[in-house]
Amino acid sequence: MIEENVKNLLESIPEHNPQGEKITFVAAIKTQTVENINRAIRAGIRDIGDNHAQEFRDKNDSILPEARRHFIGHLQTNKLKYLIGKVGLYQSIDRLEIAKALSEKSQKAGITSEILLQLNIGNEESKSGFDPDDAERAYLEVSALKNLKITGLMAMLPESDDEALLRSLATRMRETYDNLNAKYGGFVHLSMGMSGDWKLCVECGSNMIRLGTAIFGPRHYD
Ligand SMILES: *Cc1c(COP(=O)(O)O)cnc(C)c1O
Repeated sequence: MIEENVKNLLESIPEHNPQGEKITFVAAIKTQTVENINRAIRAGIRDIGDNHAQEFRDKNDSILPEARRHFIGHLQTNKLKYLIGKVGLYQSIDRLEIAKALSEKSQKAGITSEILLQLNIGNEESKSGFDPDDAERAYLEVSALKNLKITGLMAMLPESDDEALLRSLATRMRETYDNLNAKYGGFVHLSMGMSGDWKLCVECGSNMIRLGTAIFGPRHYD
């Protein structure tokens, strides 16, 4: 099933978004076994995203090395030590405190960490992220920190059947991305879109989607 799902997705996800940017397909691997993750990688997945730092640490050595590692979950300062130097893209930098901690840890390790700023585009209490109205200030505060490189924005749309609402939020993300990039430059990733809404997000200008259920089926939490 996993192999077939990956094959079908690789065929159905367009190569480019309407802006002509290449689309990156990240597998969201929370709760999946190492075996299933490696099956997805053998089937052609080249980017994988973790939500939990301990899971990352425990599985890291067993995951096939050809996959680039992303971190996509809510991060705690005291867990950064499991990730530093091993994550290619921190997508879920959702508050100044975690950006400062990652900056300090990166300085100590003598590396630059690539990050996206997560915006809480639906202003949902259950989700973290910078306030979209404050995106520019967040960008300026984080970009003043050493050893971090901001290459774009990330968001999760609300769970909703209201397609017009979802389109307006996704479009607002793209506008925010374009405005910041026009002013400051350096953006390459707009990470937006999950199994249920990735098509809509790509149509609205996302160039990075994160899919779990569409690859692995429904998640089972113990
Ligand atoms: C779990 C998760 C996804 C994937 O969700 P699906 O609906 O299973 O595709 C994407 N992004 C983040 C941040 C996630 O936590």
